[in-house]
Amino acid sequence: MRTTKIEWTDKTWNPITGCTKQSDGCAHCYAEVMARRLKAMGQKKYSNGFLLTLHEDDLDEPYRWKGSHNVFVCSMADLFHANVPVEFIDKVMKVIKETPQHRYQILTKRAERMEQYFRTRAVPDNAWLGVTVENKKVKQRINHLSNINAKIHFLSCEPLLEDLGELELGNIQWIIVGGESGFQARPMKEEWVLNIKQQAYINNIPFFFKQWGTWGSDDVKRNKKVNGKLLQGEIIQQMPKTKNKA
Ligand code: SF4
Repeated sequence: MRTTKIEWTDKTWNPITGCTKQSDGCAHCYAEVMARRLKAMGQKKYSNGFLLTLHEDDLDEPYRWKGSHNVFVCSMADLFHANVPVEFIDKVMKVIKETPQHRYQILTKRAERMEQYFRTRAVPDNAWLGVTVENKKVKQRINHLSNINAKIHFLSCEPLLEDLGELELGNIQWIIVGGESGFQARPMKEEWVLNIKQQAYINNIPFFFKQWGTWGSDDVKRNKKVNGKLLQGEIIQQMPKTKNKA
């Protein structure tokens, strides 16, 4: 059963909450807004608001889930933030290895640290590793990601802030694209999306168009639900092919 609104996953698992801004994509961070809201609502887990906090007690959550799920790891944080101790990342990886029935989607903006971490450790077979690529400035994250020996490497081009030009996709197995939401959202142009889609198709990479966000395909600002997720009249939400999909 899906327990999150994020369309490319079924569940979120947050043994860490809180973060600090890393790049342009972070400007209107959804996790920050949510963490502040949950704190104001009196949720104990978010009593520190958006301050980076480790939750040892939530590490064993995946052992209790029934069935098989796609799990977004740290939707409210960044697992490879400099202040997350290596020993804690090891604990997260141990849980991932011990629950092979699930597929874990780990998305970071700290690609360099992720590469460094996996230089001395094997990537669990059921861990998908991804980096955010919101603009040209951060395209080197793709190189750090591609250097890691993982089964699935993916890009999340969300919020897409400009045309990304040519991408190095030789070791990429999945691409997600989406526009920004919220009243301060920055626009996303259709041609930027189509450029990525075309490169994905040429390289035979599954492509997932999540949503337009606050700005529609016609460059008009309106409710994101109205803008929807049609790309040139089609819903394109492909997923990577894996052997352990139950
Ligand atoms: S890295 Fe992610 S969680 Fe951290 S501030 Fe940026 S958008 Fe938010």
